[in-house]
Amino acid sequence: MLELVGKLYETHDLTDEELISLINSDDSEVSELLRQRADETRQKYYGKKVFLRGLIEISSFCKNNCFYCGIRRDNKNAQRYRLSREEILSCCENGYELGFRTFVMQGGEDAFYDDRFMCDIISEIKNRYPDCAVTLSLGERSAQSYKRMKEAGADRYLLRHETADTELYKKLHPNNMSFANRKKCLFSLKKLGYQVGAGFMVGAPFQTVENLVSDLRFLQDLQPQMIGIGPFIPHHETPFADEKQGSLELTLRLLGIIRLMFPKVLLPATTALGTISPTGREMGLKTGCNVIMPNLSPVKVRKKYDLYDNKICTGEEAAECKGCLQRRVQSAGYEIVSERGDCVC
Ligand code: SAH
Repeated sequence: MLELVGKLYETHDLTDEELISLINSDDSEVSELLRQRADETRQKYYGKKVFLRGLIEISSFCKNNCFYCGIRRDNKNAQRYRLSREEILSCCENGYELGFRTFVMQGGEDAFYDDRFMCDIISEIKNRYPDCAVTLSLGERSAQSYKRMKEAGADRYLLRHETADTELYKKLHPNNMSFANRKKCLFSLKKLGYQVGAGFMVGAPFQTVENLVSDLRFLQDLQPQMIGIGPFIPHHETPFADEKQGSLELTLRLLGIIRLMFPKVLLPATTALGTISPTGREMGLKTGCNVIMPNLSPVKVRKKYDLYDNKICTGEEAAECKGCLQRRVQSAGYEIVSERGDCVC
C-alpha cells in the first residue's frame, strides 16, 4: 500500500483497483505517508500560502429539493432570506478591508437573482475592487445566463458535481435533476472561460468506493481549477436526517489523493470538515488543502443558511472569524495571504 502512495505521488494516477484499495485502506502508516506527500506537493506549487475566499450567502430560497440539503424547497421550517444589492456590497466592503481578494456569491437556486440583478452587482463589485476575483455559486442556470454573467465580469463558478454516478445522483436528488445536466453546466462554464470548481460530498448516503473512483475520473476529465469536497452531514429536517455523517478519516484520505492526482489544483479545507472535527480544517491544510472560505454574510442571516446541522462560524462577525482563522492557519504552520489566489495551472 505504501508503494501505491509512491506511485500516485510520481505519476499522478493509479488504476481503478489501486485507487479502491488505497481509499479502503485504514492503515495509519499509509495515511501519514499520503499526508506527507500531499503536503510536499502543495508546498512545491503554493508554498505555505493559504488563500481566502469570502463567502457571501446571498439567498436561502431554493427551488430545488436535494435530499441532503437543509434549505431544500420542502423544508417548511427553513428560515428564508435574501440579501439586497446594498447588503451584498457592504459584505464586500467589510471583506476588502479584512484583506479578502475573492468574493463568492453563493445561494439556493432563487429566481429573484435574475441575470439583470447578477450582472449589475458583478460589474459594480468589479468596478469598486478591480483587484478582486468574483466567484458565483448559484447552481444550474442556462448557458446564456452563464455567458452574460461572465461578460459582466465574473471570474469563477463553483458547482459541485455532487456525484458522477448517474444512479447515485438519482438517489440524492429528485427526478427533475440529473447528472447529465450538472455535467452540461460544468462543461459550458469551462468553455465560457470561467475558472471552475467542482466536487462532491464524502460519505453521502448510498455512496460506495466505486462511486468515489467515478468522481475522481470525472474530475480528471473536467480538469477544474478547484475541487471542493467535505463530509456529508445530516440535516434534521431532510429525508436524510437519520443517515450517518461522512468520516474525518475518509475525507482526509480523499483530500490527500486529490492533491496527488491534481498537484496544482485549489483545494479548500471546507467548513463541513471543520464542523465534524474541531481541528478538521487544520488537518485538511496539512493534507494538501490551500484555500479557506470564511463567511462574510451578515451575522443576522448566518444561521438561516442552514445546509447541515451544527454548521460552525454562524455566530461571529467576519473580523472575528478572520482572527480565529489566522490563529488556526498559523498553528498548522501555514500563512494566510491577501491575494486573489488564482490556480497556478
Ligand atoms: N445552490 C448552489 C449552492 C449549494 S450549497 C449549488 O447548487 O451549487 C453548496 C454545497 O453544499 C453543495 O454543493 C453540497 O455539496 C454541500 N451540501 C449541501 N448539503 C450538505 C450536507 N447536508 N452535508 C454536507 N454538505 C452539504
